[in-house]
Amino acid sequence: MDETSPHHYLIALGSNRRHHRLGAPRRVLDAALVALASAGIDIESTAPVIDTPPIGPSTRRYANSAAVIRTSLMPDALLALLKRIEARFGKRRGQRWSARTLDLDIILWSGGSWYSAAPRLIVPHAAYRRRDFVLRPAARIAPRWRDPLTGLSLAQLHHRATRG
Ligand code: AMP
Repeated sequence: MDETSPHHYLIALGSNRRHHRLGAPRRVLDAALVALASAGIDIESTAPVIDTPPIGPSTRRYANSAAVIRTSLMPDALLALLKRIEARFGKRRGQRWSARTLDLDIILWSGGSWYSAAPRLIVPHAAYRRRDFVLRPAARIAPRWRDPLTGLSLAQLHHRATRG
């Protein structure tokens, strides 16, 4: 392993809003990966983009994907980078479930668990275990990665979430 980039992360990408220049949500996700790579992040694998129904009051469908990345950044520094990239794509702040051009979340970290209050950051992500739109792409690229809290692999969590 490259000693300068010791951390692996699984991140989730989502968009449900067209970008004025890039176009459809899935183009936004492609551009977000390019932005991450330009910031020095190694993109090890990316999941095929899926199209999912909206959650909450928004009526727009989502494009979702996931990526396994490698970096020297600790979780709080990675979150700061993700927020900078989101802002560049015009994410609207403070409007949960509303139209958002780009949403980037840290789902898993090779270091295990992380908690900080400022910036507010919980890894593994607090809600991902029930979210098919996170688990489906994640299980495609990292099926054997185990959730440190439950001990279940992403393949098992995905199976459990889709059992209904
Ligand atoms: P939301 O707009 O619902 O995606 O919430 C974004 C906020 O959740 C971020 O500003 C973070 O401070 C916080 N947060 C807590 N845990 C995570 C995580 N695992 N990944 C990304 N953001 C997180």
